Amino acid sequence: MDIDKFRKAGYDAINRICDYHSSLPMKPVVAQVKPGYLHHLIPDSAPQKGQEWVSIVEDYEKFIIPGLTHWQHPSFFAYFPAAGTFEGMLGELLSSSTTNPGFNWFASPASTELEGVVMDWAAKMFGLKDIFWNVNGAGGGVIQASASDSALTAIVAARIRYLNEHPGTMLESLVIYITTQTHSLGEKAAMILGLRVRALDVDKAVAIHNIGLTGEVLKAAVKEDHARGLHPFVLVATVGTTSSGAIDQVADVGFIIKQSFPSIWLHVDAAWAGVTLACPEYREAAQLPGINEYADSLCINFHKWGLINHDASAFWVRERRRLIDAFEITPEFLRTKEGDAGIVIDYRNWHLSLSRRFRSLKFWFVLRSFGVDGFQANIRKGISLNDSFVERIRASPIFELVTPPSFALTVFRLLPRSAGNTTELESINALNREFYGALQSRPNLVLTQTLIGEVFCVRFAVGAARTELIDIDNAWEVIKEVGESTLESWAMESWDMEMESWAMEMESWVTAHELPTP
Ligand SMILES: *Cc1c(COP(=O)(O)O)cnc(C)c1O
Repeated sequence: MDIDKFRKAGYDAINRICDYHSSLPMKPVVAQVKPGYLHHLIPDSAPQKGQEWVSIVEDYEKFIIPGLTHWQHPSFFAYFPAAGTFEGMLGELLSSSTTNPGFNWFASPASTELEGVVMDWAAKMFGLKDIFWNVNGAGGGVIQASASDSALTAIVAARIRYLNEHPGTMLESLVIYITTQTHSLGEKAAMILGLRVRALDVDKAVAIHNIGLTGEVLKAAVKEDHARGLHPFVLVATVGTTSSGAIDQVADVGFIIKQSFPSIWLHVDAAWAGVTLACPEYREAAQLPGINEYADSLCINFHKWGLINHDASAFWVRERRRLIDAFEITPEFLRTKEGDAGIVIDYRNWHLSLSRRFRSLKFWFVLRSFGVDGFQANIRKGISLNDSFVERIRASPIFELVTPPSFALTVFRLLPRSAGNTTELESINALNREFYGALQSRPNLVLTQTLIGEVFCVRFAVGAARTELIDIDNAWEVIKEVGESTLESWAMESWDMEMESWAMEMESWVTAHELPTP
């Protein structure tokens, strides 16, 4: 493709993007395809001869778009939002147009320097203390691909710090602390590093208050492990867990760590809910005081509710030298005079990979175009839309909240009609599995399921950039209707079952009394 052809194809691609976005509300939210559908549609090896662009882009529309689940759809309420924006998209486009591996300052100064700047913008927008700002040289921020990468990076740095402070500690005795509600990234990091992991049980507290780990639970666990000769060296605390948006008490936990176990690294995973820190009224709830006071590292994903297209995971550390201790390797061919002089950031020394994408460009575009005001408005809108959903659940006789709502996430379940129904957990869970199954078969919205302790429930997560009140209304109508019909068919089934057992009882009574059968 030469420049002239690219110019044409590029304009055409933008047109297609606009058509896609304006037709989104008419599309089913979830891809209506079966596993393996694509193998029947495209050849199983690359073409020998290059093909015309038109045929390629048309196949994209025909074969690929129908196989997409539309996370930008206004009725997408599953998992967590992927609130992409046109500004973010343009950032991706322009950064890919100058594609380069940007591993050190010299490899592309603008990419390093813009990242330093936008991470400071974000830090200030969230109210992070200046210790976390790049400009001050102590801590700093770096963009990662995902919260999983951020956590792994933090845990590797934590391990080096611990081993430096406690030389001779056996690797087998190190323990990563997570909770029973931590995202799977904690266990995954343990798998990758070959280390022990312990999940502190917070299920009860979460079910009651949606509050997770407290200092007391942590203290008891550490004492137990120390008595067994084990060495907890890092805690992954969560602000806004994936299941229910539960919040570990960061200040409480951080205080215990600082006071009694200062070698434990505190990583705060606020991948989904961290963006609420942009609004002063949510800072207390989202644990800003504890983060500022005690967190060694923090992760907030902009690629969820934060308006920046995937991937855009922001990762801050209190002491950048801890990352450099863990990740710096400088072979001769990577040496530069600026790096040697220590006057620039070489981000390759802050994480696992060498090469890095120019992600800061989309941060810059989105934060400039929305401004802090626009960013806050997006968060407030998500929370207020969720509040209106919560009101409906609260007012409904057939549903209940399983945990208190968290920011823009509601966890709820269907209640069995009391008369004639057992209210055992297993039976309520079965009812709710049926309810969720029926909801899943509706193409016009999507929600996801979860377990809180043993309780099966349904999650309603708001935050797609184009969701409005009307979409909440429509979703509620579907949810209510599916709930009512599930209860009805459930009642019929249990009526049938009752009749059946009654007939059986009659039959055995008749046999027992040796009455002549009619
Ligand atoms: C979404 C989420 C993750 C995983 O994020 P990735 O960026 O996909 O790794 C981890 N923790 C929490 C709390 C999340 O909400």
